[in-house]
Amino acid sequence: MMRSSVSVWILGDQLLPAHPALQAVKAQAVPLQVVMVESLARASRLPYQRKKLALLFSAMRHYADQLKAQGIAVDYRLSTDTLSGLRQHIQEYHPARLVMMAASEYAGRGFQERLEQILGLPVQIHPNIQFLIGQFNPAPDVPESKRVVQETFYRSMRRHFDLLMEPDGGPVGKQWNYDTHNREKLPQDLAVPSPLTFEPDQLTRQVMAYVEEIGGGIGTVSGFNLAVTRDQAQAALRDFIENRLTNFGSYEDAMSQAHPLLFHSCLSPYLNIGLLEPLEVARAVEAAYRQGSLPLNSAEGFIRQVIGWREYMVWQYWRQMPELKQANYWGASRALPAWFWSGETEMNCLHTVIGRAIQGGYNHHIERLMILSNFCLLAGIEPGAVNDWFSAVYIDAYEWVMLPNVLGMGLYADGGRTATKPYIASANYIRRMSDYCSNCRFDPRRRTGSQACPYNYLYWNFILENEATLLANPRMGPGVLGVKRIAEDERAEIQALAAKFLSSI
Ligand code: FAD
Ligand code: SF4
Repeated sequence: MMRSSVSVWILGDQLLPAHPALQAVKAQAVPLQVVMVESLARASRLPYQRKKLALLFSAMRHYADQLKAQGIAVDYRLSTDTLSGLRQHIQEYHPARLVMMAASEYAGRGFQERLEQILGLPVQIHPNIQFLIGQFNPAPDVPESKRVVQETFYRSMRRHFDLLMEPDGGPVGKQWNYDTHNREKLPQDLAVPSPLTFEPDQLTRQVMAYVEEIGGGIGTVSGFNLAVTRDQAQAALRDFIENRLTNFGSYEDAMSQAHPLLFHSCLSPYLNIGLLEPLEVARAVEAAYRQGSLPLNSAEGFIRQVIGWREYMVWQYWRQMPELKQANYWGASRALPAWFWSGETEMNCLHTVIGRAIQGGYNHHIERLMILSNFCLLAGIEPGAVNDWFSAVYIDAYEWVMLPNVLGMGLYADGGRTATKPYIASANYIRRMSDYCSNCRFDPRRRTGSQACPYNYLYWNFILENEATLLANPRMGPGVLGVKRIAEDERAEIQALAAKFLSSI
């Protein structure tokens, strides 16, 4: 290879249809090759979900093959670690420079910035285009200390990207947010369509065997049926819009023993590695709405998730890093119960959702928030341990999305910079929104006694321990005041039950 050639390093979560570094180098009409590195060290930093590794490696290998089919030289390396892979590439190809797109994660970006010095060759980093905040930042000059409420952020994004807007500048339907129309329990007789799945091709089967062979990790590759190419991911998006989006809005917060996915999209694994782009997803949903095929609470609810919550989370991540990683507002220090890695607990809600996370790498948002992180917050589990668990088990886990969701939204460990209140709930919420309690040995209506649901006494125990802090929050006050109606002897029993439970996990 000539010394005047340029190497474009494409990271595993940057499988974009038009990668900016590649586009830029192509436009310069110089000899180029793409380098992609599958790093063993990165894949074994935590006991990662095997289906996630299969997804990532298969999608990377398919992407490399597609580039080759376009006539682009690709050096695809299996390496012990990323740096060794890049060094081997440079020794073999002698590029004049290395060009890349900025990583989506903090440590990755720092590594890229040091690369020129480490490798002794010019490095050029293009801005990251995986997030809409790269094109428009709704709150660029807000001081560190000032809270930016997600709803304000979301409305700016809607206006800027002209999504579900009227010509007069107001929101379609005259209301910005239909969240109150997103909270129905699943009726027993409502049909829930199965999502589109994809039979693994030969390349994916090879990757599945490889993931088994390298060992480690959690779950199994068996049953892997995710999209691994952009065409397949786009088919998954179309399937979601045609078959599940209509009911997405009404049952967004519902949970079901029989239906893990319900009407959710399961598009996050593809969005997070670049097979789909956020704006194309939001625009496809808007187009379906404008064609008259969707209720507004579903279209708005979904677009809010993508351009509101997802972008708000990555915005919070960059705003709060690197401190966010260490955040521990409540000073929580308890170890994560060992049964989080097996699902072996008598609490049916936790048993069910942990089992799904381990087997399939997926829970929908309310299960992640109101069952898993709610439990960890009430039980005082150390935030770093909770974050490691979430990072390991899910197929869509990446640090930029995990830290603000787990530490910020789920645990309120950043003291309210991400969420306006701690998301805590007793069993009453789980009973109302799911059918898990009817198969459980605990009674969701009891907060004391041997049948009492642990969520109940942990909830009231948490409020008793943090009463003053919680009362100071205007969004929490009224609920917390309920503690005043609990008699002294019952309070003592709640605290004793909580202490006994917590010492046993
Ligand atoms: P849908 O319900 O169909 O929503 C559509 C899309 O909106 C999602 O695909 C996702 O891209 C986006 N979205 C919605 N809410 C959020 C949010 N809070 N943050 C970021 N994107 C959002 N999301 C991840 O992508 N990876 C994670 O590792 C992850 N961990 C989470 C951990 C906790 C404790 C919590 C509370 C949330 C977490 N989320 C994570 C956010 C959200 O739960 C998932 O994006 C969603 O469940 C993915 O499933 P879906 O594609 O079916 O989502
Ligand atoms: Fe979960 Fe409690 Fe309901 Fe059992 S009773 S499923 S532990 S909320």
